[in-house]
Amino acid sequence: MFDMVMKLKIRAKLHIFPIIFIFILGFWKLPASAQEKEEYHLRTVVIDPGHGGRDIGAPGALKHEKDLVLEIGLRLGEYINKHHPDVKVIYTRKTDTFIPLIKRSEMANKHQADLFISLHVNANENKHVKGTETYVMGLHKTQSNLEVAKKENAAILYEEDYSRKYEGFDPNSAESYIIFSLMQNAYLKQSLKFASSVQKNFGYSTGLINRGVKQAGFLVLYKTSMPRVLVEAGFISNPDQEKYLNTDDGQRKIAHAIGQAFDDYKEKLEQQSVMLASDSLENQQEESIRFKIQVAASSDPIPLESDYFKEYDDVQEHRVAGQYKYTIGSFSNYQEARQFKKKIRRDFPDAFLVAFKDEQTIPVKKALSESNQ
Ligand SMILES: [Zn+2]
Repeated sequence: MFDMVMKLKIRAKLHIFPIIFIFILGFWKLPASAQEKEEYHLRTVVIDPGHGGRDIGAPGALKHEKDLVLEIGLRLGEYINKHHPDVKVIYTRKTDTFIPLIKRSEMANKHQADLFISLHVNANENKHVKGTETYVMGLHKTQSNLEVAKKENAAILYEEDYSRKYEGFDPNSAESYIIFSLMQNAYLKQSLKFASSVQKNFGYSTGLINRGVKQAGFLVLYKTSMPRVLVEAGFISNPDQEKYLNTDDGQRKIAHAIGQAFDDYKEKLEQQSVMLASDSLENQQEESIRFKIQVAASSDPIPLESDYFKEYDDVQEHRVAGQYKYTIGSFSNYQEARQFKKKIRRDFPDAFLVAFKDEQTIPVKKALSESNQ
């Protein structure tokens, strides 16, 4: 009798086991799919080398704007392909061809791109003017910004029937630009983020003077439905900068600076969405193990908005054994956290990785084994 009961119990266990197993699998799988829904991934970028074909852009003594921006654009695409093999790079042109401005926007919209980068070089009657500027869509605040937009928008004069296609827009008439004051400026915040990152990275690596982030009405950005910027990567009218723009080194540095801005922009956006997604996961009592990057420890609290934390807006404060510890980022994946740490070390050379379980610090090794990594 006793034997019989045991056998029955074992049988019951054997039956229940797969059910429990499937149940656990299902439960464990749930947050992953929930996470996919909420996380943002930058998947497609459009690189738009300005002008082309019969439209030479600003003329140069060595090469014209259309040739320089194509060369820089191809280098930028190479950089992004190399560093982000999962990101699709679309070029509005890869050869010396004329592409109407409206076509460029249509291409980007059709591909539902996440970011649009129009590449140009600047020109000025005054040969001494030099430096880089990055524009976002909007109404110009100064005459010189309007002049830049006029010059770039004049590309439509090479198009047949431009007046009909652009609803009577006259690139040379200041009145035409009023439409940009009436528009709803979508994507401004993200466009500004990318634009300031471009300017910052130009400052780090090219040595070109930073003329800042500006706003003006560019037709190529106007109907492009995504974060969008127009980069003026130096003045072809300045002899020194023209030389620089024509060198292998100059082009590489310019392309890499924009590429690094892309790295930063992509990472920040994705990181923010991971945190939003993981917040909601934590509410479901899931994924209690987090890897974070510690950047400071102090016996006195450091205000989160202090300059010490630079531009990071996701700093977290933890009280551990009477000390205040400050971390940036929050990852369930150890490798992602390590990659992030490498980046953070540019700003915080002593940053290191820490692990948390239910908001309490635990040894990294323990966190790795508990999260099966
Ligand atoms: Zn141009």
